[in-house]
Amino acid sequence: KPRLRFAPSPTGLMHIGGYRTALFDWLYARQTGGTFVLRIEDTDTLRTVEGAVEFLLEGMRWLGMDIDEGPGVGGDYGPYIQTQRQELYQQYAQQLIEAGHAYRCYCTPERLESMRREQQAQKLPPRYDRRCRYLSDGERAANEAAGLKSTVRFAMPLEGETTVHDELRGDITFRNADIDDAILLKSNGIPTYHLAHAVDDHLMKITHMIRAEEWISSFPLHYRVWQALDWEMPLVYHAPDVLGKDRRKLSKRHGAASWQELRQQGFLPEAVFNFLALIGWSYDDKTEFFTREELIRLFSLERMSVSGAIYDEEKLAWMNGVYIRKLSLEELTRRTLPYMERSEAEGGLPDSIQRPLDVEYTQLVLNLEHERLRTLGEAAHAVSYFYREDWEYETPLIQKGMDQESTRNVLLRSRDLLAGLDPWESTHLEEQLRALMTELALKPSQFLGTLRVAVSGRKATPPLFQMLEVLGRKSTLSRIERALN
Ligand code: GLU
Repeated sequence: KPRLRFAPSPTGLMHIGGYRTALFDWLYARQTGGTFVLRIEDTDTLRTVEGAVEFLLEGMRWLGMDIDEGPGVGGDYGPYIQTQRQELYQQYAQQLIEAGHAYRCYCTPERLESMRREQQAQKLPPRYDRRCRYLSDGERAANEAAGLKSTVRFAMPLEGETTVHDELRGDITFRNADIDDAILLKSNGIPTYHLAHAVDDHLMKITHMIRAEEWISSFPLHYRVWQALDWEMPLVYHAPDVLGKDRRKLSKRHGAASWQELRQQGFLPEAVFNFLALIGWSYDDKTEFFTREELIRLFSLERMSVSGAIYDEEKLAWMNGVYIRKLSLEELTRRTLPYMERSEAEGGLPDSIQRPLDVEYTQLVLNLEHERLRTLGEAAHAVSYFYREDWEYETPLIQKGMDQESTRNVLLRSRDLLAGLDPWESTHLEEQLRALMTELALKPSQFLGTLRVAVSGRKATPPLFQMLEVLGRKSTLSRIERALN
């Protein structure tokens, strides 16, 4: 059974694109009845950001990616946090040294730095000059006796080529001479990715490795490390980078949202889930909507793309709107209420409106906006005037071609008509108000426009007659009264 791992480094709060690769792992594991492992690669201890792991886990929960093995979940191959596995890496580094595949390097950071500067000046690629690879046993012993700090470097073959196989791209061949003797273990005993991933993927019995494109260049190094350890590498897939619309790697610069921001704005996790699956994967180049179950069934690693996958915020908003329209009115109301009821500062309704809101009334109100909402968070502003009568006019009451006098007349005549209108129902309201409009010889933009602004303060609202029906007679009349004063 396939075993896949998502192996993020907690060096920042992951943006939403970061979950795409996790999703591919998860989908394939679920499709095959395999195992989805979460491993925290926190070996870059200086860059570790506090709270990043919790943030990541919460995001996975929000998106509905459950973890089979990992921190907090357990499993047979733990611990799943790399800083808790240090002895293992040290043990394998030692094994590599003894087999002649790695060596201790005593070069000081200062020496490495001046070497790097010189190479830069000569426009050479930065590369370790392998001085310590050729130390004699005596020199080594002297360095150890002097207590010099050391790193462990991999002894890359000096000649020949290394051909690696990417499941999506096929064979890729590199010249060994172009590959650095990379550091496997830092002087503080903490491994680099080059060693840690191999030890962990092997010991955790990973079968499919899906990782970012940026690792292709060190793939031959990794392949040699695996060989030196006498282990067979899992199948390797380099997933295309998630790019912004400018085709540069997605980052905060693109305003790339986090799951938390998306949730805050009222994106539905099921829509985000669907959207993420299509960043670098397609089913048939045209189908865009998939349920979670469909994705589990239809996903295939082979259909991952090899080049840039675009994160298009506009498309996400559109997709979210489609998902919102698919919700039943009850479901929409249930899910939107918390967004409306949160504080005004958080994006909810004005604080002067009493919470909790009336559920039945809210359902009628949301029914009028259901088609238009792109996020649940938009609802509060879109419908706030249904809940209060002291809103400010966002647009003038007096319509084009009207004056104060004719506006008053529309309001007075409408008030008198509506006061006795029965039943209070939109088609009946429409019939009667249109008759009055004809009698007053006004255009819809004038007559209906006046009423619309009188009851809502806005130009753009749901259809007037439905809106009046929901507002009810009492509120409609008091709004007209307010406009008259
Ligand atoms: N920790 C690595 C990263 O965040 C993971 C690469 C991999 O999946 O192997 O880029």
